[in-house]
Amino acid sequence: MTKHSELMLPYLHEVVSLLQIEVSPEQVDKIANFDDFLFDYNKKINLTRIVDPLEVAVKHFGDSLTLLSQKELFAGARVIDVGAGAGFPGIPLAIMRPDMQLTLVDSLRKRTQFLSELIEKLAITNVDVVWGRAEDIGQNPKYREKFDGVIARAVAPLNILAELCLPLIKVGGHFWALKGPKADSEVSAADRAIALLGGKVTSHESVFLPLTEDCRSLVCISKQSLTPRTYPRKAGVPERQPL
Ligand code: SAM
Repeated sequence: MTKHSELMLPYLHEVVSLLQIEVSPEQVDKIANFDDFLFDYNKKINLTRIVDPLEVAVKHFGDSLTLLSQKELFAGARVIDVGAGAGFPGIPLAIMRPDMQLTLVDSLRKRTQFLSELIEKLAITNVDVVWGRAEDIGQNPKYREKFDGVIARAVAPLNILAELCLPLIKVGGHFWALKGPKADSEVSAADRAIALLGGKVTSHESVFLPLTEDCRSLVCISKQSLTPRTYPRKAGVPERQPL
């Protein structure tokens, strides 16, 4: 039977070439193994609804790799992916940037189990996986204000997401929210929450994904001051009563 990666890789090569990203043969192998493991596992539990090889290359891998343009992701940076799900954007970033240390967080046990098996299978040594809610992790001294960067995609609207993510970053660090094409209203609605949590929006770029007409937004928020101790509030409160 044809492996999913055999159909996906030709598109991936086009995507990285159009994004002007250099990928080594070892990194291509890891991406292919990730892809095959994901689509085998996806038969057992729901990890992704995007299955078409072209769409996977563009919307999962290409979208994740747009983070590589961010110069604040320095060598040695400690980065946390909140709501990592099937591993996007954290796993592609970890494959491309072995000089960084990634922590992947998800509240669903089945998904963190998948991620733990995946990193073992790929022999990726710069990733650790944490099962839990971002609200609890953000109040845990082991994680609170310990990261240089936070990344998150498709987890919650920005006013809610800010409360899940900003408490995890050190002052001087950055939070990247990978958003859909129309993030302007989300950014305005989150202004007050971001300021309250010690952040400031420093850039808001439109990102065009190759091979499709798809447009995304990459919102970067820098952490300017410590987050007040009361945030994040208890699990579920940020969603029920957004700041
Ligand atoms: N980031 C991945 C992507 O873009 O493909 C997954 C997106 S999926 C739609 C959202 C994920 O966030 C789910 O796996 C869910 O379990 C997780 N999640 C939602 N709220 C969370 C929270 N408060 N703490 C940790 N994980 C959360």
